[in-house]
Amino acid sequence: MKIETILVPTDFSDHADKAFATAIELARVFGSRIELLHAYDFGRWVTLDEATFSESLSHDLRRAAENKLESLVEHANTEGLDVSTRADFGIPSQVITERARETSADLIVMGSRGLGAVKRLFLGSVTARTLQTSPCPVFTVVDDHEASD
Ligand code: ATP
Ligand code: MG
Repeated sequence: MKIETILVPTDFSDHADKAFATAIELARVFGSRIELLHAYDFGRWVTLDEATFSESLSHDLRRAAENKLESLVEHANTEGLDVSTRADFGIPSQVITERARETSADLIVMGSRGLGAVKRLFLGSVTARTLQTSPCPVFTVVDDHEASD
């Protein structure tokens, strides 16, 4: 079994940070490259199509996402690893599945939950949807602190 490319979707939550740390360990074992991916949108303006919305806002959102991704990589111990970042506009589970196809990802490593505040949910909606649509296996990482709640 080859795991050449690992896709790590992040919403910048602690859960996703844990998933990224796990992916780094896996990448060291399997010699994989990692792509750290964030799907951004207009938040409460989600119903508007990107093309019809202010170009400068769209540009600012992308820049902000890219900066956060770069800072995550900078602060992780990725020495010797091939780690790239990517910010795409759209609905997270769709962006993740599409990107998994584009990169021929062998594995997706993501948090079981994210920024959502509903603690009783075992799986967040983005992860649940990705499990249904992903072209490759999905490794969900449970945050230790949360699991014991
Ligand atoms: P919900 O969003 O359903 O309220 P939640 O926020 O707790 O619940 P999810 O959003 O499913 O849970 O997050 C689970 C994982 O999905 C995160 O740890 C992260 O890996 C990934 N993820 C969530 N949102 C995004 C996003 N916008 N871009 C990339 N990855 C994401
Ligand atoms: Mg969420």
